[in-house]
Parts: sequence; C-alpha cells; structure tokens
Amino acid sequence: MQKFSLHTHTIGFDGKHTEEQMLKQAKDLGWSKIGFSNHFIVCPYIKETKMYEAALQRGYQNIYSSSFEEAIEKFKPHYERIDELKEKTGFPIYKGMEVDFFRDNEWREGFEKACAVLKPDYLIGSAHFVAANKTLYNTHDLKNAPKEEQNLLLHKYFQNVRAAAKSGLFNFLAHLDLMKKVGLGREDMWLEDELKTVETIAKAGARAEINTSGFKLAYGEPYPSKRIMGLLAKHKVPVIISDDAHNFERLGERFAEAEQMARDAGIKKFYDPFEIRPQNKINERSL
Ligand SMILES: [Zn+2]
Ligand SMILES: [Zn+2]
Repeated sequence: MQKFSLHTHTIGFDGKHTEEQMLKQAKDLGWSKIGFSNHFIVCPYIKETKMYEAALQRGYQNIYSSSFEEAIEKFKPHYERIDELKEKTGFPIYKGMEVDFFRDNEWREGFEKACAVLKPDYLIGSAHFVAANKTLYNTHDLKNAPKEEQNLLLHKYFQNVRAAAKSGLFNFLAHLDLMKKVGLGREDMWLEDELKTVETIAKAGARAEINTSGFKLAYGEPYPSKRIMGLLAKHKVPVIISDDAHNFERLGERFAEAEQMARDAGIKKFYDPFEIRPQNKINERSL
C-alpha cells in the first residue's frame, strides 16, 4: 500500500494543522515521506468575485492571490518552515503546490517566474474554478447556475483539465470529477468529456490522482468515479493515491480501499515522483 501522501494542506492556507503536526502523524503512520501542497491560486480579479466574499466569511481567503508576488510571499515562509523541518528531522519532506491552472500566456509567464523563485519539488494541477465573463465560478457553486449555463461551464471545466494536462507543468492532476461534490457530472452525457480528458492525459504522459476525500460523498467512491478509473486503466494512465488532508487525522485515510478499487478497475501503474529506483545496470555497464 502507498505509504505517503503528496496532496495535503496546512495552517496559514486552508489546512488545520502545522507542517510539524502533519509530519508527526506521517511518522506515526510509518510513512516513507510526505509532501505539502497548499493552494496556489492567482487571478487578477479574484478579490472582486462573489466567491472571494464567501471565502472571507469562512476565513480561508489566504489561499487566493491577485498577483504572483502576493502568492510568492505567502509560500516563502511556508517553504522555509519545511526546509527547517527537513534539516532538523532528516525526514524526506517535499515542497509542492496545488495549482489552479489558467489558460493564458500571462498566467503561464508569471507562474514560471514564481516557480523559479520558490523552486517547488512537485506540482499538482487542479481546476477548482471555471472562468466566464470575468468572473470565477467555484466548481461546487455551479449547482445554483441555470441548467444550460451549468452544462457549458462543466464542459469548460473539462477543457481546463485537458489544458492543464497538455501544459506539461504538472506531476499529476487532482480530483478529475470535482463537480461530483455537488452531484454534478454524473450523467452518461459526460462520458464523452471524460474520455476526451483521459485520452489527453494519456497522450501528454501525465498522471491522475485517486483522491480519498471523495469517499465523504454519497457515492461510495473516491475522486474520480469508477467510470473514470476504468478509462484511466484502459489508457494506462499511472495514478497516485491522495488524501487531500486538511488536518492530520485524515492523512492516509482509506488508502487501502482506494488502491483496491483502482486495481479492481484495472489500473496497474502507481505513480511516485520521488521513488528511489535501483541503479540502472545498463548505464553502469556502458560507462
Ligand atoms: Zn483541490
Ligand atoms: Zn487539495
């Protein structure tokens, strides 16, 4: 069973516990490593959206930045704490980000500059929002949109995931069917979008996540659905198991079950970007 998680959140962003508390739990679980992947969300008009207002009320506005400079300033002290912890404990801790990918050149340029400053070890690509008419719709706020608009935005959501896969920026893509959170995207009509998305991921050589926070919902499955897991298997997309833990109690939650479901769906390739491989004998011989 996978003994690490690379999709986790900490205090200062929208997590509940410190890096140190999360690390302690990882060690108690007998894990080999842990990665932190707080939200990296940069959009110039984010603070004018309704969504931001809601975030302010709930106290997690810190995950939203209107400029890359702002996001960099939020990540710097967090990454410094990780470096210190790594140094102090000798435990393999990785610096990640859960990044909302935006499809414009300006965003890409700014993001690449931010990476050059922060030097993350790995990147998770996410699509929590759909942009339309200069506003951002949170995937789980789509429930209240009129049906026609809702469908258009859901199509756009899948387009965003495909664009993130094609960008080549990300080690893996998070929760492919996030809209399941509010019961959307379950109908057969979405199969075409799902298939296109999985094909794009496979063609781009990208990987997908099996996210156990989906078990909280009523469907008895993680993100993505069994249907999508079947497509991932068919296209031989490697997967990684994630808990998306926002507190230490959730680290590793239902990993065995998720892995079994992935295997039952036919998935054979499990991804670990920090796997230490045995030395390559062929290279050794050719030296
Ligand atoms: Zn997420
Ligand atoms: Zn997350």
